[in-house]
Amino acid sequence: GIRLKDEMVSVETLLNAANIQFNIDEKQKLTDVPLLTENILSMCLKESVTNIVKHSGATECQVTFEQDWKEITMTIWDNGVFKGRATSFERGHGLIGMRERLEFVNGSLDIDLKEGTRLIIKVPNETK
Ligand code: ATP
Ligand code: MG
Repeated sequence: GIRLKDEMVSVETLLNAANIQFNIDEKQKLTDVPLLTENILSMCLKESVTNIVKHSGATECQVTFEQDWKEITMTIWDNGVFKGRATSFERGHGLIGMRERLEFVNGSLDIDLKEGTRLIIKVPNETK
């Protein structure tokens, strides 16, 4: 599995190469994240940023982390245009794969298209 810190470095490289400005907004420093949860968040981050580079036409991307007693929220926003449709959640593809893995840890994936594309990823904050 991949650690979140390492994946952040790797997506930053990817975005830089694509000339997309990258902003990190760490509202809370994540603490005591179980390794499985961290691996799943890393996988979601990688897929989300790959999608931004491949599909969005964005010039900016922001990743936000929040953690409270109940849950960890990772939000990945870009200022491009979402190109998907209802069929975007088809089996075997990135978005559905993310949702499936998140469900495995009782997490969720929501998409907000009000302003660019915002993926809102939530996982329970369980201290083991
Ligand atoms: P794969 O992930 O299997 O390589 P994919 O990227 O096309 O293929 P998904 O990751 O499931 O598949 O995304 C589904 C579709 O949603 C994409 O084909 C694209 O049209 C759209 N999409 C996803 N993320 C974005 C984004 N950030 N901006 C614009 N369109 C997006
Ligand atoms: Mg994809």
